[in-house]
Amino acid sequence: MKNEIEEQYKYMEKIAKINEDKQLTYAIYTMGCQLNENDSEKICGMLENMGYHKTDEVKQADFVVFNTCCVRENAEDKLFGKIGEMKRQKEERGTILAIGGCMMQEKHIVDKLHKSYPFVDIIFGTHTLHKLPEDTYHILEKRNKIEDVIDIDGQIYEGLPIKRNDNSKASVTIMYGCNNFCTYCIVPYVRGRERSRKPSDILQEIKDLANEGYKEITLLGQNVNSYDGGDGYKFSNLLYDVNKIEGIEKIRFVSPHPKDFKDDVIKAIYDCDKVSKIIHLPLQSGSTKVLKEMNRRYTKEQYLELVEKMRKSIPNVVFSTDIIVGFPGETEEDFEDTLDVVKKVNFEQVFMFIYSRRVGTVADKMENQIPEEVKHERFDRLKALVESQIEENNKKYIGTVQKVLVEGKSKNNENMLTGRTDSNKVVIFEGKEEWINKVIELKIVSEHMWYLKGEI
Ligand code: SF4
Repeated sequence: MKNEIEEQYKYMEKIAKINEDKQLTYAIYTMGCQLNENDSEKICGMLENMGYHKTDEVKQADFVVFNTCCVRENAEDKLFGKIGEMKRQKEERGTILAIGGCMMQEKHIVDKLHKSYPFVDIIFGTHTLHKLPEDTYHILEKRNKIEDVIDIDGQIYEGLPIKRNDNSKASVTIMYGCNNFCTYCIVPYVRGRERSRKPSDILQEIKDLANEGYKEITLLGQNVNSYDGGDGYKFSNLLYDVNKIEGIEKIRFVSPHPKDFKDDVIKAIYDCDKVSKIIHLPLQSGSTKVLKEMNRRYTKEQYLELVEKMRKSIPNVVFSTDIIVGFPGETEEDFEDTLDVVKKVNFEQVFMFIYSRRVGTVADKMENQIPEEVKHERFDRLKALVESQIEENNKKYIGTVQKVLVEGKSKNNENMLTGRTDSNKVVIFEGKEEWINKVIELKIVSEHMWYLKGEI
């Protein structure tokens, strides 16, 4: 594996020589989850090493990368629309066009690209991302189209360059793939089986980040609490070890699976002062019947028991979650079970999704699909409940003092700064630029649906 990466560094060097003094630029378009964002940071790192500089002006870019996701239904239409827009630019500027990521692991998508978009230069999959320098070199030298997608589980490649999106918060992927095969989900088919990075590699990456001044780390994986570092080293061990790293002030993780949330992890969250006390615990549905159809392997009662157990073990713990509305066969009664769990847990944040069919999944073949209007009507009811809870929850913060990592200037108001509380609430406040990337204490003075207002 090391040799493979050394090879890629040689290609990066060769390309950097070819590109010398040319002032070339690249643009990247990322779809999907934080894991994909983290992959894009590696793609950016490789492109920078090849002598390209980042631009937001896609139309001016000499290299354009689309890092795709196939979890949402309309993603395909969006992608094909954007690739279509690139045709002219390619003809006029000779822009190199590379499409990678999860969608490229789906045969029907790659077939469509070949048929309708033959001007795409590089197609790479989730297991061949690290070979972008080699693929680019072949394009520059021979101008042959490259399709570099493999269907077997990828290896773990350490040591790729990385260009991070943020100066204070960083994501660190701890494992790849998933073994769970939830019936609605395409991820295990496109990202392969679970592979965990070595603890020493993860810890070294985080120590380096701390030395560079990063304060907050998010540990990423499709199912982080089945992390297996070898020789009995589990996710809880990793939490303890990351907690010891000087300079890191906040540790978050996404996503755990409720069925794998064991006592050792609960204890580690309690013991580790830097681990955030907002736990993302994907529910998906509150109905035991639907959960079974989803192959989630827990019941409504088990989920609620887990929440209760964490509440008893971890003072001030709060929860966020993911919910899918309108899974095949979901009855009004099932949906009310979901509302019931939402009421009981009183989540701090809920990521709500309308079920969408994904080709190749078990749920796509289920006959009892729910009509669109029913899905939307249920979604609106869930949204109304969640928003009323958020409003109530936000009131609790008024008058409290919160530790906030200052992230930068507010996007909506240049004169204000923005940061997040431990529970991931956005706080806007007046302050000095030198506070950016520091943890400060703020008194919360007012609340709004999507943010809180604070004062030093
Ligand atoms: S745990 Fe389920 S939802 Fe999450 S990635 Fe794996 S299969 Fe998909």
